[in-house]
Amino acid sequence: MNKALKANERELIKLTRYFSKRAEQMTIDGELSEDQQKLTEACENLERQLLQHADNRTAILEKRAQLEKIIEDNAQCPKCHKADMLKRQGVATNEHGWKCNSYRCRRCNTTFTWNRPNNPWDMLAFLELYIKELEASLDAEMDPSLRQHTEAALPQLQDSLSRLRPVLQGSDEEVEALMEKEREMDKLIHQFKNYLLIEKIKLDTYQEE
Ligand SMILES: [Zn+2]
Repeated sequence: MNKALKANERELIKLTRYFSKRAEQMTIDGELSEDQQKLTEACENLERQLLQHADNRTAILEKRAQLEKIIEDNAQCPKCHKADMLKRQGVATNEHGWKCNSYRCRRCNTTFTWNRPNNPWDMLAFLELYIKELEASLDAEMDPSLRQHTEAALPQLQDSLSRLRPVLQGSDEEVEALMEKEREMDKLIHQFKNYLLIEKIKLDTYQEE
């Protein structure tokens, strides 16, 4: 059975397969009634729907996991300004509420939290703030070469921001729609499972007589 199934989905599929097997045997014996035929079809439909939903969930969550990993924070040790001896130690939340990686430099034996976010959602907020600060700095008196540098950097940053924003929005909407669908499916699974359990009990009673 598909590994990406949730426990309630797996449980329901076990039940639907019980009814499918039973219907197969009854067809062989020429005992399959119209009601049982319908029940079997309902089981098969739901199983198909469920497997499709599970595949869809896996695809969306995999895409999301890829997206979570797109940020390279290019961290450097604050003492030696190198990156080659850094070992990532964990994740810390900084004063802006952004999640940032913390590192240990094995050369300097120093630990620090890098000042850039480690994920695209916080990176979006970082870019927004950074652009705002750069724009504000242009209003102030500034060394001409620094001004030139800032003016050149701004369009690139704005470009990154405008490319990142729709990607994240799209993913957020996709995940939200998935959660909604998940709630619907859980409800459907619960109802159908109870229905099948009752049908199963009826059958067992019948066979005992
Ligand atoms: Zn160092």
